[in-house]
Amino acid sequence: MTHVVVVGAGVGGLGAAVRLVGAGYRVTVLEAATTIGGKLNIEHADGHTFDTGPSLMTMPFTLADTLAAVDIRLEDVLELLPVEPICRYRWHDGAQLETWTDDDRTAAELERFEHGAGQEWHALLAQGRRTWEMSLPLFLSEPVGSFVDIARRSGRPIDPRDIQAHVTLSQIARRRFRDPRLQQVIERFATYAGADPARAPGTLSVIPYTETAFGAWHPQGGMHRIAEVLRDAVESRGGTVRTGARVTRIIVRDGAAAGVELADGERIDADAVVSNVDAARLYGELLDAPREARQVAEAPQSVSGFVLMLAVRGRTPELAHHNIWFPRDYRAEFADVFDDPQPPHDPAIYLCNPAATDASCAPDGDESWFVLVNAPRHGPVDWERAGERYQEQLLDRLDALGLQARERAKTIIRRTPADLERLTGAPGGAIYGTASMGPRSAFLRPRNESPAARRLYLATGSAHPGGGVPLVLLSGKIAAQLVLRDCG
Ligand SMILES: Cc1cc2nc3c(=O)[nH]c(=O)nc-3n(C[C@H](O)[C@H](O)[C@H](O)COP(=O)(O)OP(=O)(O)OC[C@H]3O[C@@H](n4cnc5c(N)ncnc54)[C@H](O)[C@@H]3O)c2cc1C
Repeated sequence: MTHVVVVGAGVGGLGAAVRLVGAGYRVTVLEAATTIGGKLNIEHADGHTFDTGPSLMTMPFTLADTLAAVDIRLEDVLELLPVEPICRYRWHDGAQLETWTDDDRTAAELERFEHGAGQEWHALLAQGRRTWEMSLPLFLSEPVGSFVDIARRSGRPIDPRDIQAHVTLSQIARRRFRDPRLQQVIERFATYAGADPARAPGTLSVIPYTETAFGAWHPQGGMHRIAEVLRDAVESRGGTVRTGARVTRIIVRDGAAAGVELADGERIDADAVVSNVDAARLYGELLDAPREARQVAEAPQSVSGFVLMLAVRGRTPELAHHNIWFPRDYRAEFADVFDDPQPPHDPAIYLCNPAATDASCAPDGDESWFVLVNAPRHGPVDWERAGERYQEQLLDRLDALGLQARERAKTIIRRTPADLERLTGAPGGAIYGTASMGPRSAFLRPRNESPAARRLYLATGSAHPGGGVPLVLLSGKIAAQLVLRDCG
């Protein structure tokens, strides 16, 4: 029986493993950490639970499609709770705006800010739909190619306006809206790909369409449940998931991946290896692949994040599930993150309050807050030193917003970019590997089929088609399809 080793039990590794056991392969998943999930992890304190990474689930059909490979129906294993509004935005001047899956309702919200903005919102979603309908089958579900490959697959010439890669996200925001606050709402979608909106391709303007069309969801019990149902699906078909198993080397024989070596010296033979490890580490540490390592290292790296998790006494009716407070100067925040790396002085604050949807995350009447701000990677900033001070700065901001964070918090857990690097192996804590910046960036991500060795495949947010749970599941799908193609 063909044996496939998957290195890493993040969403990408587990997603690929589900598809591979479904195809009848013997599958062994090896995870370095003591828990599964990678960035999609969980933390407990004082009876509270916290998702440590993703907090917004979009495009649930990618998860349903993965589980279908082993005949499991998503609705039988996970209850998805709709999150409405999708997000509540606030500004220094007291203004507040909510986005909803009902596009008319969101359009009416935008119209309050600027005459004609509602119509522009509808036009943005219509454009997003065209981009989506082209990119899902031709780009997001296939091994990365070039613009020419996409045209070949589509069977007709591609109109660049459908892809919107020739303009930046900031340009799209400015062309559609005059009000700087509405521009910020659009620009923020660049951070879903870890990028600077002034350099991110306008293609990312597809995101509001996907949120509106496919909804914003919260799995009952927390986002980490996604990793658990994937692990259970692998095991339901006889696959093995081992934690505490750090791979130190991919064994290559006659130019093809033939197994792995673990930190304790154990060797495991395989007919193919799927790597869920960040591409920079795969090529820099697990393989002798200097050319690929250099290519990844030279690409711009994505944003990291500075996280506080607060076990909070009492409820906060003014909080939605997803909340954003924008800074006065959004441009300055991206300059602090990308141009002159330093802890951002006045960052946009994201606060996720899952108790608004799912009371199981906290003791009765209390809340579990997940607070995230964009942060430069560990390295350019020494987050081991800067973390404590920045925590105080952020708590000052939360208190200034009237949230009484210090007074109400029973426990505060801090996760800096340095912690993210240590816990998940992401270099510098970069959440999305290389960043989507520049019109061709989507084509330059590491490939799912490794050029460094045959029968070695990448299923990770640091490779094609990109980061975020749904795209990582698609990465796992593409990698599994390549294994099937090559191993029969
Ligand atoms: C703070 C934060 C907020 C986010 N918010 C969202 C959100 O709201 N929505 C969304 O969709 N996405 C979000 N994301 C992004 C999302 O979490 C990631 O894109 C996704 O989880 C990455 O999955 P992955 O499988 O590619 O990698 P990872 O989750 O990094 O998994 C890789 C795994 O490989 C293991 N590994 C590494 N090296 C080895 C080795 N040598 N041997 C064995 N195992 C190894 C690691 O321990 C890890 O478990 C967020 C991420 C963070 C950190």
